[in-house]
Amino acid sequence: MKTVVRCPSCGTKVLTFENYSVQYKSPIKQCRQCGSDYLDPRCVELAGEPFPDRDFKLYPYLVMTGFGAFLLWRGIHLSGMRVLGEPEETQWFLPTMFIIAGAGMILASIIGMIYIKSGLKAKKYKRLYDESLERMSDKYYVRTLGLLGYPVPEQFREKGEEQ
Ligand SMILES: [Zn+2]
Repeated sequence: MKTVVRCPSCGTKVLTFENYSVQYKSPIKQCRQCGSDYLDPRCVELAGEPFPDRDFKLYPYLVMTGFGAFLLWRGIHLSGMRVLGEPEETQWFLPTMFIIAGAGMILASIIGMIYIKSGLKAKKYKRLYDESLERMSDKYYVRTLGLLGYPVPEQFREKGEEQ
């Protein structure tokens, strides 16, 4: 589904995107037309979010390794066979695609697992968290977030303020 974001002040179309993954950075952006602030719905302040356990699990990578191994095996298996009705010059195509896709998936999942196990991913998370916490300790910044309609987590709201 296509999402269109318009500047709340001047109505200029500032963002158009389809499927997206959440980014841990400031959701406040400036309109290039009038310079007013607007919210980028793809961005989230990490300091207000629960720890994303899901991102640190190994099993999705293991599943991916298994699937990659299957594709690789399939490609090797197919390369020893002739596909009926397929011209001689393109016989190599399908098995090669399977092998490349399978090997690529295995490699990507191994890199993903090393990234988690080495602690590098946790380190990056910590850095993004600290940056977010720094932004969220700025009262003016938090107020701007709230005014733009961002769901400011309880612990960052000013005392006695209704949002
Ligand atoms: Zn604008």
